[in-house]
Amino acid sequence: MEDSYQVVIVGAGFAGVAAAKELGRKGVRVLLIDANNYHQFQPLLYQVATSQIGVSAIARPLRSVFRRLKTVKVLTAKVESVDAAQRSITTESGQRLQAEILVIAVGAVPNFFNTPGAEELAFPLYSVTDATRLGSGLTRLLDQADNSPDGFVDVVVVGGGPTGVETAGAMAENIKYVVRKYFSPALAARCRVHLVDMVPSVLNMFSSKSQSYATEHLKKVGVQLHMGQGVTEVRKDGVTLADGSSVPGQIVVWAGGLKAGDLVAGSGLAQGRGGRIDVDTDLTAPGVEGVYVLGDCANITDSTGAKLPQLGSVAQQAGKWAASNIIADLKGGTRTPFRYVDKGYMAMVGRGAAVAELGRKRIQLQGVFAFLSWLLVHLALLSGLQQKIRALFSWLNGYILHSPAQVVVSGPVEKEPREQAPPGP
Ligand SMILES: Cc1cc2nc3c(=O)[nH]c(=O)nc-3n(C[C@H](O)[C@H](O)[C@H](O)COP(=O)(O)OP(=O)(O)OC[C@H]3O[C@@H](n4cnc5c(N)ncnc54)[C@H](O)[C@@H]3O)c2cc1C
Repeated sequence: MEDSYQVVIVGAGFAGVAAAKELGRKGVRVLLIDANNYHQFQPLLYQVATSQIGVSAIARPLRSVFRRLKTVKVLTAKVESVDAAQRSITTESGQRLQAEILVIAVGAVPNFFNTPGAEELAFPLYSVTDATRLGSGLTRLLDQADNSPDGFVDVVVVGGGPTGVETAGAMAENIKYVVRKYFSPALAARCRVHLVDMVPSVLNMFSSKSQSYATEHLKKVGVQLHMGQGVTEVRKDGVTLADGSSVPGQIVVWAGGLKAGDLVAGSGLAQGRGGRIDVDTDLTAPGVEGVYVLGDCANITDSTGAKLPQLGSVAQQAGKWAASNIIADLKGGTRTPFRYVDKGYMAMVGRGAAVAELGRKRIQLQGVFAFLSWLLVHLALLSGLQQKIRALFSWLNGYILHSPAQVVVSGPVEKEPREQAPPGP
């Protein structure tokens, strides 16, 4: 059976949700499809993996997000294929859907750069499932190490960008505070976190001042840095570096890059850098009619010609902008080129320690003020009042009392085919 909708949006991440909200407010009939029945807030996944906050703080049911927008219908289904030229979609269960206007906003998947062993053995951090799997793996390793007189835990984080830095910093602080308090100081002394990257410094996109600050803080909390060496192999007991040396790790976290997934590759659209679609400045895909590609699966250039990074703020603003162009399409108006408001970027390095470079002028903050800005910005961006309250409570609990949000983590540990995680209560 073939159903017809004015606008079909595939992917309910930052871009898809922003577009659907804007269209719903204008009464446009939208079908929003996602493999999960919840919207996940990726910037805080590392906090779930390190037991700082629970899943229910970062996963919000989509039907709750859209409960007041009656023209937006949510469909939980994994999309198997997209035909951009036909503007048609086929779901995993074989349902075929036809759109007057199609929006592809399916995000990205980890890019392992064909590194031997990486896809099979490393833990990516791109979904709630990834985060709970990593959290379970870490907790179980700690339990095992605690049961043995000389048990130890080594974790390798690959990738010194914001995700890698935030993860490594949080893990090292967990060892310093949580493992000492809930397990034993002796076990904490036998746990190590390593951060590896092929470039010489962490946080490559930030200023050298921010890089130095982050490097010093990571070293202070005990992260062992291995910079300037690429990973050539991921093994069960660690990673091999380009110079042939090894870094030990029972768990290897992959924060080493992203690319567009198979759905985008099979859509019939020409792929650019990172397998993403080079969209026109009005966010439409070139060469086809009525198709928009947004967020992490698109290479977006704004009206000033600047190439924009894969960030939540870019995805969210592009979603909103695309909605206004879609409304122009439906009413016979003229599309306008996307104008991005650059608010800068920030990264958490640890308790009371963050770096922020704000606005187009990149006003730099380091330390406590950057940390407080980071908390406020992420609190404001989190979707849902309940989620904000849960996150705030967990942060107060964790940062002031040094108490993890959840000491018990359950879930699969070994690498398994990706599966859906349940939404938070
Ligand atoms: C760990 C981490 C930390 C980050 N920190 C920051 C930060 O601090 N600040 C910042 O600005 N950005 C940050 N980012 C980047 C930001 O999260 C992304 O740029 C943003 O999520 C992209 O939004 P999107 O809508 O394009 O894709 P996503 O948010 O990835 O959403 C894509 C959606 O598509 C769905 N989907 C995918 N395939 C299918 C399919 N076949 N069928 C149905 N549904 C499908 C997925 O389930 C998902 O809900 C971070 C990213 C990560 C991974």
